Amino acid sequence: MGFKAEARGICRVQDGVKKDCTLAQSRELLGTLYPKNEGQIQRLVQLALKHKEKLYPFSTGKNWGYGSGLPVLPASWVVDLSGMQKIKVDAATGLATLEPGVTQRMLHQFLHKQDLPYLCPTTGGGPHVSILGNALERGFGLTPYTDHFYALSNLRAVLANGELYTSALSRRGFECIAKSHKWGIGPYMEGAFAQGNLGIVTRACVRLRKRSVERGAFVLKVSPQRMEQALQFSQHCLHDLEGVVTGINLMNPARTQGMSRAQAKKQQWTLLGRYAGVSGTRCLLRRYFKSCRLTPYVIPYSWTQCVEKYRPWLEKMPWGKEMAMLLKGFAILEGVPNDVAAPLVYQYQQYNPKLPMDVERDQLGLMWCAPLMPWDAKLILKLTHKVETILMRYRFSPMITLTALQPTEVCATIPIVFDKRTHAETAAACYEDILNVLMQHKCFPYRMPISQMSLLQDAGTRHCPLYHPLKQAIDPEDLLAGGRYE
Ligand SMILES: Cc1cc2nc3c(=O)[nH]c(=O)nc-3n(C[C@H](O)[C@H](O)[C@H](O)COP(=O)(O)OP(=O)(O)OC[C@H]3O[C@@H](n4cnc5c(N)ncnc54)[C@H](O)[C@@H]3O)c2cc1C
Repeated sequence: MGFKAEARGICRVQDGVKKDCTLAQSRELLGTLYPKNEGQIQRLVQLALKHKEKLYPFSTGKNWGYGSGLPVLPASWVVDLSGMQKIKVDAATGLATLEPGVTQRMLHQFLHKQDLPYLCPTTGGGPHVSILGNALERGFGLTPYTDHFYALSNLRAVLANGELYTSALSRRGFECIAKSHKWGIGPYMEGAFAQGNLGIVTRACVRLRKRSVERGAFVLKVSPQRMEQALQFSQHCLHDLEGVVTGINLMNPARTQGMSRAQAKKQQWTLLGRYAGVSGTRCLLRRYFKSCRLTPYVIPYSWTQCVEKYRPWLEKMPWGKEMAMLLKGFAILEGVPNDVAAPLVYQYQQYNPKLPMDVERDQLGLMWCAPLMPWDAKLILKLTHKVETILMRYRFSPMITLTALQPTEVCATIPIVFDKRTHAETAAACYEDILNVLMQHKCFPYRMPISQMSLLQDAGTRHCPLYHPLKQAIDPEDLLAGGRYE
């Protein structure tokens, strides 16, 4: 019996198809496997080993702008884990045990229904993306805990050799501390599952942040001339108010306009930060801002809830569209997932807000370039200007957000939005030009699209002296997620 026939005895199997993604890359998939539990995954991996078939797992496959649910290498079977949706949350600690198919919306609704005071870690990817899938790609968002892989502990995985991985503490029955103590005991190995290809993660624990008594956002419009000050201000905030200010986004005018669809009169950047803390935090923040050269408006979350009622009326005002977009953005900061970022990728197709964002269904062209930059305000602004110039030279909208989650580095997120029918090659050339400029200044993305993984080899990271012997030992024939970050 062949692989497909045997796999049919384990779980639902869909025949092979040719699929493409927002990168305008396509793959001839051998088929899609839909396991429902860890036992089925283990049997599928053992079967793949027997038949020497390649597997590529994903959680919900909405890795939009980086390859969606497509494998890096051709001739693979895709393992779709979206049917695994178990959620368990410990009410006292906020430690949530999740399966890969749990989306932002599912977790948010679960917390809401159980009346648990914890925040769902949201991103701009929208309500239907996986919490674990995003974390395993080392995604981030402004809702704490902002670094999503950092919030994971006690992972369970089916390794590429068919064995089950569980943490050392968990194996000895110390499940409780295995969840709370990320590092476990002995060498920390679970990092190899993030942007790695050693196993299929079947479950993990996610640390959720408790909703604070006082919480909200602060906003300021910044002219391009004051951006250096705005960057310095953001760094000081993150240093001085660690734990209170959990992250700051600086969006350039094209990015704000792309998201709000509003035509701004003044070409200003938007600074948007999130704060949370005990009673009195708002006053403390206002006092702190008064002592700074920039003074953002502090907007408690409760106010945004009141204003929400007037949204239809607001949207008719000249500045209303941008305000409505910011209100939706505030909801995300509060752990309420929504599609606020969707309009920025619908530049060539009509966006229908009544339908959930689905960049595959709508055949959008999108590539994310997300470089990390050291915190040097002059360098960040110089690079931002260079990237804007490249995007405009290729006639793409020059949208950039600078996200500051720590006072040590800034991550820029640059969406290259293009018409897939006509501009796929131009978009790829634009990405490479941007990357070359970044690399000249010693900056590099924290995450790569599947079409650009080969650049990692040029960057000299292929022969990682620790990881590759491990991969060789566990998966000598590179059957699991081959090419992923190799
Ligand atoms: C408008 C817009 C805004 C966005 N904003 C953000 C943002 O704010 N922050 C952000 O981080 N991203 C953002 N994204 C990018 C992306 O959509 C999200 O990161 C999304 O969460 C990734 O898709 P997913 O959750 O379905 O992960 P998946 O596609 O399921 O997983 C991603 C990859 O991780 C690996 N993987 C996943 N699950 C497993 C598993 N169980 N075992 C082994 N390997 C696995 C696979 O290699 C897979 O390809 C945005 C995208 C768009 C279009």
